[in-house]
Amino acid sequence: MQKNDRFLDPNIPDEMAATIRPRVLSDFIGHENLKQNLSVFISGAKKRGEAMDHVLLYGPPGLGKTTLAHIVANELGTNFRATSAPMLTKQGDLAAILTSLEPMDVLFIDEIHRLPTAIEEVLYSAMEDFKLDIMLGEGPSAKSVRIDLPPFTLVGATTRTGLLSNPLRDRFGIDLRLSFYSPQDLAKIIIRSANILGTSIDIVGAEILAKSARGTPRIANRLLKRARDFAAASGKNDISENTIKTTLIQLHIDGCGLDEIDREYMNTIVKHYAGGPVGIENLAAALAEPADTIEDVIEPYLMQLGFIQRTPRGRIVTESGYAHLGLEK
Ligand code: ADP
Repeated sequence: MQKNDRFLDPNIPDEMAATIRPRVLSDFIGHENLKQNLSVFISGAKKRGEAMDHVLLYGPPGLGKTTLAHIVANELGTNFRATSAPMLTKQGDLAAILTSLEPMDVLFIDEIHRLPTAIEEVLYSAMEDFKLDIMLGEGPSAKSVRIDLPPFTLVGATTRTGLLSNPLRDRFGIDLRLSFYSPQDLAKIIIRSANILGTSIDIVGAEILAKSARGTPRIANRLLKRARDFAAASGKNDISENTIKTTLIQLHIDGCGLDEIDREYMNTIVKHYAGGPVGIENLAAALAEPADTIEDVIEPYLMQLGFIQRTPRGRIVTESGYAHLGLEK
């Protein structure tokens, strides 16, 4: 498998995302507590006729941060504007977006931990006072101007709260953390998406796929679409258990949802570093993967399964990690 088209990479954009993305809170599966709170905050803001407080969404890729941001705008009945921190390179880029907002709009900034400091500073007064402080010109003739902005709700998404500066984090009134989904919730997501895609899968089949989806809705939907392709290849519309098994075998995904790169990651620590500890930079070099991808995509799920641990001295493979590889520690 090519590393850059890794099937399980939750960062790869989805096909038909717009069709299967839930649009209202009641269609968003799982995370019951988070939904109840969010629904209270949304109806509070609507009753007061005010912009809802700014929301910070935190969690690994593919767990529903963008979806929730869309839902917030939809439920508030406002416009949804989206951008991502790497696209904002100059203060003017952000200023152009902020000055084009309408009252109560939702502005979504993905990967907000990657905002350059100078741009982040523009956000402070925008978030706190709905004012835009911006420098016009350069050198001695430069002057600062203050522009009124309409009240708006910033929804920031990040995979790394640790990389967010304190002043920025403090300006979010609502902090929501998305964790990996249970196989039961993922099975519900799979059945819902199958209905929308016009195919069908029974609960047993959905649960098998769910267990291989790394706790991640985006991967669950992707597995479903590939299973649908394998069903179509044998002239069927419905997805049988046999088709699901074939799909997982063909994609080299095991019963815990690990693929070749996860196994290579664990095998590298076991074989080249005696099970660890090994530092992230050494691992990144050995695997020819960026350290960011290892930290955001590979490790969170392996830690969740208890197969690896991050310690101050580096990564180690645990006893259950060894057992999964069929080895003894
Ligand atoms: P993120 O922004 O966290 O990377 P997305 O919001 O883009 O993730 O979600 C990825 C896909 O997974 C979406 O297209 C959506 O269809 C699906 N999805 C995410 N969360 C849920 C959920 N709770 N219920 C149903 N589908 C979901």
